[in-house]
Amino acid sequence: MRVLVLNCGSSSLKFQLIETSREQIAQNNDRVLAHGAVERVGSDDAKFTYQMAGREKEEKQQAVKDQKQAIQLAFDHLTAPGGALSHPQDVEAVGHRIVHGGEAFHESVIIDDRVLKDIEKLSDLAPLHNPENLKGYYASRELLPDAKQVAVFDTSFHQTMPPRAYLYGLPYEFYERDHIRKYGFHGTSHRYVSWRFAMLHQKKRADYKLITCHLGNGCSVCAIDHGKSIDTSMGFTPMDGLLMGTRPGEIDPGAVLYLAQRDPDGAQGMEKLLNHKAGLAGLTNSTGDMRDIQKRSAEGDQRARDAVDVFCYRVIQFIGSYATVLNGADAILFTGGIGENSSEIRAQVCQGLTWLGVELDAAANDQARGKDARITTEASKTPVWVIPTDEELLIARDTFRCIEGIPHP
Ligand code: AMP
Repeated sequence: MRVLVLNCGSSSLKFQLIETSREQIAQNNDRVLAHGAVERVGSDDAKFTYQMAGREKEEKQQAVKDQKQAIQLAFDHLTAPGGALSHPQDVEAVGHRIVHGGEAFHESVIIDDRVLKDIEKLSDLAPLHNPENLKGYYASRELLPDAKQVAVFDTSFHQTMPPRAYLYGLPYEFYERDHIRKYGFHGTSHRYVSWRFAMLHQKKRADYKLITCHLGNGCSVCAIDHGKSIDTSMGFTPMDGLLMGTRPGEIDPGAVLYLAQRDPDGAQGMEKLLNHKAGLAGLTNSTGDMRDIQKRSAEGDQRARDAVDVFCYRVIQFIGSYATVLNGADAILFTGGIGENSSEIRAQVCQGLTWLGVELDAAANDQARGKDARITTEASKTPVWVIPTDEELLIARDTFRCIEGIPHP
């Protein structure tokens, strides 16, 4: 089955055309036929990148007014003569990344009218994300009326958390009436890397207790007990938990109140601050990009050093906390742009985990970049691995499984 995977953000579109089937999933040889992205959707100088398997990457700038035009642009390239598709109808299904599935969705589902209504309702909980994700759905439904459409949620993997992990200490009516609770995000990534780790060991996810660390621009840690998420560091929104590129992670709500009372833009000002100006960017008063911060830290910039320290300290704290709630972990997994590529950050985090018996293999850690690799010694009591995430692959497989009626593993 050829599945188009769409990830629509507020000003970006990422897409992949993936060929998958029962046999390909079993042999782990699903094929990415083409992939690309549109950045700065809604502007006159949007950047379009596209690459077909085995071909050179293409890049161009042009006006792209909305998500529909962005998806059309992707289609024009996918169906160009000699392209990845001879006809748009060759796409049998579209898998959509949907950020918030609330308590309604515990797994991926085919989008029908009822599902659509529920996702629209959930826009209240994710006003920055769900409406954007749905724009991709509406556009692809128009462009591909015969294709089945499937929703894959960032939150659904965490729906197995027990109330003790997801309830906040607020009057209960806020949970019942306003649905204020911890939801957690990055679920597709945590699910993928935990599955991949088990697969590399010819076992099942249900055989392990794992702590997965998705460290990218957004960051979260997850405690996975025999295949089920039992706690995660992001909360009601993706602002909570670890220090991130531009989000603060854990912060005393009293500090937010204090600032909100003084901000002339009130809640709106705070939204901007907490989503776009905090985290690594806030602490360094410049960039939220870890590569740049590490470079500045190596050059002796004290603020950059502090930012790296806060970042690693939080990761260590959460791993410690999740090792406790899991009553011991069989392995710790790193993924995401930072987790997959920064041997320095991994080394600094592992230094704080010697009590868990973590013994880093410095050479293996230095060489592990963007590939599956164990980075601890054979003697290490808790093995630590780098597992590059592949959310698109999981979205394509979920889409295929939903349509074929195959249970999600
Ligand atoms: P993601 O959101 O998963 O794409 O991750 C983006 C983050 O990964 C940014 O902060 C990048 O600076 C960071 N990153 C990517 N490559 C490296 C690297 N080699 N060393 C440190 N950070 C990196």
